[in-house]
Amino acid sequence: MKIVVCLKQVPDTTEIKIDPVKGTLIREGVPSIINPDDKAGLEAALTMKDKHGAEVIVLSMGPMQAEEALREALAMGADRAILLSDFKFAGADTLATSTALSYALKQLDYDFVITGRQAIDGDTAQVGPELAEFLDLPQITYAAGIDYKGDGVFHVTRKVEDRSYVLKVKAPFVMTVLSDMNKPRYMSVPGIIEAYREKKIDLWTADTIKADPARLGLKGSPTKVKESFAKALKQPGQLYEVDPQEATKIILDKLLEKFVL
Ligand SMILES: Cc1cc2nc3c(=O)[nH]c(=O)nc-3n(C[C@H](O)[C@H](O)[C@H](O)COP(=O)(O)OP(=O)(O)OC[C@H]3O[C@@H](n4cnc5c(N)ncnc54)[C@H](O)[C@@H]3O)c2cc1C
Repeated sequence: MKIVVCLKQVPDTTEIKIDPVKGTLIREGVPSIINPDDKAGLEAALTMKDKHGAEVIVLSMGPMQAEEALREALAMGADRAILLSDFKFAGADTLATSTALSYALKQLDYDFVITGRQAIDGDTAQVGPELAEFLDLPQITYAAGIDYKGDGVFHVTRKVEDRSYVLKVKAPFVMTVLSDMNKPRYMSVPGIIEAYREKKIDLWTADTIKADPARLGLKGSPTKVKESFAKALKQPGQLYEVDPQEATKIILDKLLEKFVL
């Protein structure tokens, strides 16, 4: 079995700042992590490897700094890491990102591809479904579990709000996973040593994936950021330590003051 996990390195914060001129994310000076959904996807792939034997390949598009995330994945147990890095990929929106990733996937053999449901910085949840479309593969989104009994059929649990569905799917397929599907393992000490001393990361460029440069990076991105602004913070509430009668009067006065009553 071969599993490819698409893994994005994201800033370790939910307070994303946007360059007001370029409309792109500012990543400088912010510590980075593996996107939480993707880490859960990697754990799902590694569990499959533990149970059934599998080759787990991690694939990321990003600047050279994304190597750190890939090394962490290798130290957790991934077998191979590929970094797509080239100035031709810069400024990509979701369409150009999934185009590049799909060209890379066309160079690989796999039974299924895992992506996170959503990246915590870009937050669009578009890349997984776009990949499935470009690769012309069935997709299962919002996956919360995967089971395999060795008969060529994968049982994927899909969780949507208060419902769960178990879908049966044959390889190849794409699934997008939720971060709460499992608890990712820690890197092991031998894993860290191997990942940093022995394993190498394959560096792929636009030429390696034989992609049409017009469909990559800023050139291949139809999305244009028209405006970006910071959301105004809500005023903190006021705290009163009074008896219930006094509290009722204060609430009524406030509601009258705001013309709610
Ligand atoms: C006009 C425009 C310009 C942009 N320019 C830049 C830029 O210059 N630099 C920049 O960093 N970002 C840029 N972005 C943001 C970038 O497009 C998105 O971060 C990217 O397309 C992925 O979208 P997302 O983060 O919403 O991922 P989602 O669709 O929410 O991600 C879902 C899953 O897809 C997979 N995935 C997503 N991205 C990657 C990746 N790169 N590698 C591997 N797997 C991945 C992961 O498994 C992830 O969990 C730009 C966006 C726009 C609209």
